[in-house]
Amino acid sequence: MKKHNYSAGPSILPQEVFEKASKAILNFNDSGLSILEISHRSKDFVAVMDEARSLALELLGLTGKGYQALFLQGGASTAFLMAPYNLMKENGKAAYLDSGTWATAAIKEAKYFGETVVVASSKEENYNHIPKGYTIPSDADYFHCTSNNTIFGTQMKDFPATNVPVVCDMSSDIFSRNLDFSKFDLIYAGAQKNMGPAGATLVVVKEDILEKSGRTIPSMLDYAKHIKAESMYNTPPVFAVYVSLLTLQWIKEKGGVAAVEKLNDAKADLLYTEIDRNPLFKGAAAVEDRSNMNVTFLLNNADHTETFDALWKAAGISGLPGHRSVGGYRASIYNAMPIESVQVLVDVMKALESKV
Ligand code: PMP
Repeated sequence: MKKHNYSAGPSILPQEVFEKASKAILNFNDSGLSILEISHRSKDFVAVMDEARSLALELLGLTGKGYQALFLQGGASTAFLMAPYNLMKENGKAAYLDSGTWATAAIKEAKYFGETVVVASSKEENYNHIPKGYTIPSDADYFHCTSNNTIFGTQMKDFPATNVPVVCDMSSDIFSRNLDFSKFDLIYAGAQKNMGPAGATLVVVKEDILEKSGRTIPSMLDYAKHIKAESMYNTPPVFAVYVSLLTLQWIKEKGGVAAVEKLNDAKADLLYTEIDRNPLFKGAAAVEDRSNMNVTFLLNNADHTETFDALWKAAGISGLPGHRSVGGYRASIYNAMPIESVQVLVDVMKALESKV
């Protein structure tokens, strides 16, 4: 039986994407060849890369606005160092918002390159909210933030107005909600949450911010080189890009990011309403900053853990335990999670209430 998969990443993808991807492993485009055995320079794969790059921009409303989309390797963790390498000037500085573990990891990398100002942090409160009311130095080379904090279940609802380029790690909420993406100059996201299998990293970059740092950048870390090579500087992660394309096509068929956002809001609403109603549970994140992708919650009484765990496992739910730094539970309800699966979890929470 197919499980209700709440894993934070790698995570659920649409069932029809799994089916199409399986077919392409056996016989890609009726070519008599597997997608896994063809050259990345073949006409068929170049078409996949081109469509994936242009569809990513289209879904974000960035077509024709001076942006380029790339599918690179190395995960968001490599983007943590590519951002300062490409954007921080020699003797320059960067501003970072510390909203969680991944933001902290990005800050660590930036420090290798130069002065890294942390404009605000919610570390003291175990990152249970998004810091607000901070000032971004106007002489920073860029401002970096994390739109959705996968571990803590918080999400930025507003982004600061600033004169400096904005860099955003959107690993866990890319393509899940409509924003004015033209306010961002560099967006990156590991594919393995809302887009595809692990192995590809989407990078969306405004071309005119590049080649201004004055640094000599090693080729594989140079966004401008990847753009010139049309995201084929070296062998790209062929299968991860193909599956990402299938997911992007699925989002488009659903009506685009705005339509998917409506479904995501309905799912999040259903679950948070139960967390707030059910006297056995409490939410882990500040209400105004709650993520509609990673819903973190705790049992009020740890004595109920065993019973609750047995109930959700029996209901075919997988991947619910929270990250060790928060404890409790984390329901990752990415784009592909059907509302019916969220209802199964809500029913289990109600069942616990009537049982104890
Ligand atoms: N940023 C965020 C918000 C994440 O959730 C993760 C992974 N969970 C990362 C960065 C690190 O991504 P990767 O494993 O692709 O390097």
